[in-house]
Amino acid sequence: MKQAAVYLDYNATTPCDSRVLEAMLPFFREIYGNPANGLHLQGRLAAEHVEVAREKVAALIGARPAEIVFTAGATESNNLAILGIAGRRPNPARNRIVTSAVEHKSVLAPCEKLQEEGFEVIILPVDNNGRVRLDSAEKAIDDRTFLVSVQGANNEVGTIQPVAEIAEIAHQFGALVHCDAAQTVGKIAVNVTEWGVDFASLSGHKLYGPKGIGALYVRGDPDLVRLEPVFVGGGQERGLRPGTLNVPAIAGLGEACDISSAQLIEESARLASLRDLFESRLLHELPDVRINGSLNQRLPNTSSITFPEVDADALLLNCPEVMLGTGAACTSRAISPSHVLEAMGLGREDAFRTVRASVGRFTTIEQIEIAASAVTNAYRSLL
Ligand code: PMP
Repeated sequence: MKQAAVYLDYNATTPCDSRVLEAMLPFFREIYGNPANGLHLQGRLAAEHVEVAREKVAALIGARPAEIVFTAGATESNNLAILGIAGRRPNPARNRIVTSAVEHKSVLAPCEKLQEEGFEVIILPVDNNGRVRLDSAEKAIDDRTFLVSVQGANNEVGTIQPVAEIAEIAHQFGALVHCDAAQTVGKIAVNVTEWGVDFASLSGHKLYGPKGIGALYVRGDPDLVRLEPVFVGGGQERGLRPGTLNVPAIAGLGEACDISSAQLIEESARLASLRDLFESRLLHELPDVRINGSLNQRLPNTSSITFPEVDADALLLNCPEVMLGTGAACTSRAISPSHVLEAMGLGREDAFRTVRASVGRFTTIEQIEIAASAVTNAYRSLL
């Protein structure tokens, strides 16, 4: 397949690393057993490999293997955490959920669903950099709160959230803490124990693994189930996520996490230098563009750029040499501007003029040079 265009949309999804693909292949033909079936070799082998993958996922985020539940991705993990905690909260008098204005829809939508059912949902505002304000968190979280859900880092602007600080406030009031870490795991070091969170979601296709696989970290004793499952069926994954395990994808996720554990620090530094190069090239040519998000609390790979006078859609259509994002991919069909940018105080027009560039493992300096000049030329041609 001819691929001339430069891909700078790694936050939407990453290509599968070829090592991940290799690690998955045996599980389609050679080790195809159902891991629930411990009575024959095929089943036992599959189950053993699932546990190896579980160890690798746990190792990347500082968890114990028994604390990892495999799901179909971060959307499902977020739903399982939020709806599941609401369904099993020990004290029904507590009915407040606190979350933030810049969460992904897969966090906001389950919260809205619970609101319709009578729960109280408080949405924390963010500052101009997209960071959740701790003073608002302190005001909103109290002993009526049973759950605080805050992302590790934002998918659109890359701002890293003060998860540990928020978790500490929440725990003072006996609330549980969930973190949507889909964009964080694999990009910066994540340690769920240091964060002090009770639940964390991650997704395979954001860290060079396959699509349709993810995990939910559930802190503590595996037998002390504090979650109501979203699906019911067989007892897989401690009954939290029944259904035959997707062994090839689980093996792929394990490999992706293992690779990330080995090269995360080096890779983060390389990505930051590529992202900085892209921004400095653009700013040099087009001094009026603005970079959104926190400059010192930001994912190494993400750049959110607002262009004066030109709509992001027009810019992207005029620049087929580069594949960029506008806001969240999952909501790109919606006509409304990005809720993240609006929460950060960007006006409607500026939100529509904002492009997201996200670099990744296979981005090269040459690609950055090509992309920066293509974007500059496309922009100038539209003025
Ligand atoms: N949360 C965040 C912050 C995301 O960026 C995404 C993916 N866009 C998701 C959740 C959903 O992940 P998945 O595609 O694995 O369902």
